[in-house]
Parts: sequence; C-alpha cells; structure tokens
Amino acid sequence: MGCLFCDIIAGKIPSTKVFENDRVLAFEDINPAAPVHVLVIHKIHTRNIDELSPDNASIMADLMLGVKEVARIKKTDSQGYRVIINNGAAAGQVIWHLHVHVLGGKDDLGAMIC
Ligand code: AMP
Ligand code: ZN
Repeated sequence: MGCLFCDIIAGKIPSTKVFENDRVLAFEDINPAAPVHVLVIHKIHTRNIDELSPDNASIMADLMLGVKEVARIKKTDSQGYRVIINNGAAAGQVIWHLHVHVLGGKDDLGAMIC
C-alpha cells in the first residue's frame, strides 16, 4: 500500500523542506496549527511508535535530533515549542508513517489538550 510521506521522501509529492539529512526529512505541515508547524519524519518507514523495538530505536533519536534542528532553523528554540506524536486512531493519527509535529512561533501555545 502506498504511503504519502514515503512519496514525499522520494520526491514524488512536493513539500516545503525545512531540514534534511541522510536519515530524516522535515517539511512544513500543509495545514499549520501554529505559526511554526513542521513535520519530522524518518526515511525508514515505520507505522508509528508501536513498531519501534530495540532494533530500530535509533529512529526516535534521529527524529528528536531532527526536531532540535527544526527549532534552531525556525528560531523557536529559545522561545520554546511543542512536540507532538499522534499515535494511533484515538490520537487522530491519519498518516500512518511515524511523524513528529513541531509547533511553535508564539509566546503561549495554550493548553496541551483542549
Ligand atoms: P496526524 O494527525 O498526526 O497523522 O497528522 C498528519 C499531518 O499531516 C496533518 O497535520 C496534515 O496537515 C499533514 N499533512 C497531510 N498531508 C500533507 C502534505 N502533503 N504535506 C504536508 N503535510 C501534510
Ligand atoms: Zn512511509
């Protein structure tokens, strides 16, 4: 079955790139929920956290280092920012390729869950 985010990594679907290295890609969310809203994905496809194991746990470390780069590039590192993973249906995960939302760009991001 096709994966939208794998297609973005492959360049088959356009995205506005924020950061890329050999392991992760960060790009602007198409429907931003804050002035800064960037998605960080790994180039290895995993569905979500449920597919992580000791064998592939470095995926999460790579993603978090990607988050740090995004915060620096978007200049929200000193202000503070929120990092969200919607994991599974109840959390509203709609793209089944593990991704980290980086939200920021304003002084008060509001309550964690509304
Ligand atoms: P989630 O609910 O965590 O699965 O979030 C999926 C996110 O992907 C949403 O915030 C969407 O706005 C975003 N999204 C969907 N399609 C695209 C796309 N082609 N480019 C960038 N962001 C996208
Ligand atoms: Zn994928």
